[in-house]
Amino acid sequence: MDRSTDPGAWVEKLISDFIDHSPDNTLANQAGDKAFGHPLVGFARGDDPLFEAYKDHVGPFHLTPRELWSQTFPGEKVEPSDLTVICWILPHIPATKADNRRQTFFPAERWARGRIYGEEVNRKLRQHVVAALQAAGHQALAPQLSPLWRMHMSPEFGFASSWSERHAAYAAGLGTFGLCDGLITPVGKAMRVGSVVARIRIEPTPRPYDHHRQYCLFFNHGVCQRCVDRCPAGAITEAGKDKQKCLAHLKPVTSDYVQANYGFDGYGCGLCQTGVPCESRIPVPDDG
Ligand code: SF4
Ligand code: SF4
Repeated sequence: MDRSTDPGAWVEKLISDFIDHSPDNTLANQAGDKAFGHPLVGFARGDDPLFEAYKDHVGPFHLTPRELWSQTFPGEKVEPSDLTVICWILPHIPATKADNRRQTFFPAERWARGRIYGEEVNRKLRQHVVAALQAAGHQALAPQLSPLWRMHMSPEFGFASSWSERHAAYAAGLGTFGLCDGLITPVGKAMRVGSVVARIRIEPTPRPYDHHRQYCLFFNHGVCQRCVDRCPAGAITEAGKDKQKCLAHLKPVTSDYVQANYGFDGYGCGLCQTGVPCESRIPVPDDG
């Protein structure tokens, strides 16, 4: 893969090779399962107006790629158009989804492992992508691993972070938001998201949708609401997800359960991400 003639394909291969071949892609269980299947990769330009718009939609504290860059590398001048936001979707393996589909209150062990050990895979992937880009002469940063990444609480927006990987993935053409707040992608919603901002010019991925809720059956066809029924905490209604109720279920309800039953320090739920029509693909109206 030639980085100079097709940098997008080069970056995509970096990410795919790690997930498809690295022993770091693991649920760290007896069965020796991988955490994730083959990833999806998308790109957004650093000057995409959506990133400014996120200050209205996520919160005024949400950082643009340029702000992340200038605060991380204060001496470096860069035009936002020189930056690319590299995003990936890591779908949980079929066994993880099948196990969680059967659950009605607590997470399956594989799901809880996917939340904790899977996020560790995601962290290593971010580091791997940043290191590979830097080795090739492209300065890069992983927003989620940056000290600039913080959670904010505001009356208007509730809990929200200074960089939303799901919103970055939306900008990178990878999916739209569902009633339960998850990102519905071509490989579904049972997945984890990652992103890196780099000084490299890559053609942005077209967004094959007109608005941010296009793939959700409830918002587009008035049907489904299966995620409402799946939520053991009553956190999802026609008004969307109550983040506080969800959080109260995750900790301490599921964290106590995971420690007592699976023997590791973790938590997780994902019932609204499994056993629903948007679990593993973009749903169609007949699914509703
Ligand atoms: S389960 Fe149905 S209503 Fe909920 S996010 Fe998926 S498509 Fe939308
Ligand atoms: S993660 Fe669990 S508690 Fe939170 S909204 Fe989804 S189903 Fe409800």
